[in-house]
Amino acid sequence: MQLDALSLMTVAMVNLVTISLTLPPIMGRSLTPAARAAQRALLLLTGGWAALVASEYLVSSYVLSVLSMAGLSASLVMLHRALSGWLGPRPGALALRVLAIAMPLGYAFSFAHYPLRVGWSNFLLAAMLVLLARATLVARRHAGRHWRLLLLGCFAIMAVLTAARGVLGAFFTAAYPTFLSPNPVNIAAAVAVNMAVVLGTVALLVAWRDEADDRLRAMANTDSLTGLPNRRGFMERAEALFANAQRYRQPLAVLMLDLDHFKQINDSYGHDRGDDALRLFAQMLRETRRTGDLAGRLGGEEFCVVLPSSQRDTASGFDQRLRARLQQRSEEELGFGLSYSAGVAAMTDGDATLAGLLARSDAALYEAKHGGRGRLLMGDSGSGHTVV
Ligand code: GH3
Ligand code: MG
Ligand code: MG
Repeated sequence: MQLDALSLMTVAMVNLVTISLTLPPIMGRSLTPAARAAQRALLLLTGGWAALVASEYLVSSYVLSVLSMAGLSASLVMLHRALSGWLGPRPGALALRVLAIAMPLGYAFSFAHYPLRVGWSNFLLAAMLVLLARATLVARRHAGRHWRLLLLGCFAIMAVLTAARGVLGAFFTAAYPTFLSPNPVNIAAAVAVNMAVVLGTVALLVAWRDEADDRLRAMANTDSLTGLPNRRGFMERAEALFANAQRYRQPLAVLMLDLDHFKQINDSYGHDRGDDALRLFAQMLRETRRTGDLAGRLGGEEFCVVLPSSQRDTASGFDQRLRARLQQRSEEELGFGLSYSAGVAAMTDGDATLAGLLARSDAALYEAKHGGRGRLLMGDSGSGHTVV
């Protein structure tokens, strides 16, 4: 079987056109910036590739050739942008942009000089592919490993073959008279492009699905009214903080809070104002907590805060700051005062589960309600101790 570079490149072009035209309607309109960047990368790659094939095969055009280099460079910048959206800020963004501008410019200026033009464009393309390969490496969190490895493989293989083309074009011009000459490197590169188109598309689709999964998971763990973690999200993170505190024998305090007479607030001011009050309370919690503290809405008008590395006096300090803030801001922003009762419990050596600690802070909260509301009560202290 005789494989020729032009046929392989034409097949790659047909595949790219098909993919870049069918993906947008399949992926729909509500896209994140990363998914949109990936689609644009595919379109630019398709345009660049089509211009390349046309300029090599149909018309030997200076403009088409330069445009093809610009399209390929721009598509790599867009791919980097997609990776940054999916994985967090990636290294090499500035270098990639500089290379993406320098590559078509240098190509255009050196067009008449074949070794210089082929060497320049391929070496710079290879450098961009290396930067992209590097951008797949470090993940911010549990970002899917498989699609990153797939992309890494595609970029790495293409970088090696592109650099090999650069070497041939720049230093062995006699053996490499044109881009389509039946040189093994050209055939291998054309086969690799076809593989990279297929595998790269699969990787992008998996990245897109992972992103949708992450967003769904975040939604499932977040309370839509206040933006705080809901019971599910809160418990997941609280368990982790509890396990960590136990492992490193660090103190940990839990504060359970419940708004006072909230039913009356709803009855007097309406449900919407009640919602405003819940949002304001959540905001006050966010403003009062330190880095590392966890606040969540357990349900209704009940909230909970976990304070790692804290004893009960730290929790009491939190409560005082929150109360002072809430008193001022609720009058200002809601037009009525908002108060709450709270119970605190601190982790002891005997605590085997978070549930026991939560139950003790809940019991203290119950006592605070019965003791007249608007106060913090310490659990664990035997007699119970009213702080406010
Ligand atoms: P206490 O001081 O004993 O805690 O009295 P309370 O009225 O705050 O407690 P109760 O449990 O009797 O009532 C809680 C109220 O909170 C009843 C419910 O309608 C209201 N509520 C729960 N979730 C929401 C919400 O998302 N928005 C609004 N506006 N109200 C809510
Ligand atoms: Mg209440
Ligand atoms: Mg309640």
